[in-house]
Amino acid sequence: MSEKTHDGHTELTDNELRVRALESLLTERGLVDADALNELIDTYETKIGPRNGFKVVARAWTDPEFKKRLLEDGNAALAEMGYEGRQGETMVVLENTPKIHNMVVCTLCSCYPWPVLGLPPAWYKSFPYRSRAVIDPRGVLKEFGVEIGDDVDIRVWDSTSETRFIVLPERPAGTEDMTEEELVEIVNRNSLIGTALVEAPSAIGDQS
Ligand code: FE
Repeated sequence: MSEKTHDGHTELTDNELRVRALESLLTERGLVDADALNELIDTYETKIGPRNGFKVVARAWTDPEFKKRLLEDGNAALAEMGYEGRQGETMVVLENTPKIHNMVVCTLCSCYPWPVLGLPPAWYKSFPYRSRAVIDPRGVLKEFGVEIGDDVDIRVWDSTSETRFIVLPERPAGTEDMTEEELVEIVNRNSLIGTALVEAPSAIGDQS
């Protein structure tokens, strides 16, 4: 089965072809159940997504005791909300403050907190991001449209399969009257990786 794009290149990368070959082989030999595999993929593609992370952030913004637990022992606090499991064996939550901006990368590959954010976006896995996030975080953030003041310390955290980091973005000014449920709706995925901020609704789509 070859999938062609309009300019004639096959859509599958070398790695994807290898994965498919491996999958066929494992299924053929009866080592892997194709249905179970499909269900696993479907779970992470459609059921477990960044919305879990949005709920974590909104709760941390509105429940100081939860936030304290979250920063002290990420896994235990996330498990309270039901977010645990594979690719999330150790998750560490980093709090952004007016003086500290945290940003997460996996320089080696694409380690990412699946139970909280689902599967990583393509840019997170890309070589330019993995290499440049460490060397020039401010420049990378600018490309994401994020300007961080010179007085703010940018800390870049390198994820591994053992430790996966999650950023707790700052609660934007002007959201003091919003409920936890309303706050869930304004959080965005990249803010949990540190490549975006969260803006108050009045600032989103402001045409002036
Ligand atoms: Fe990795």
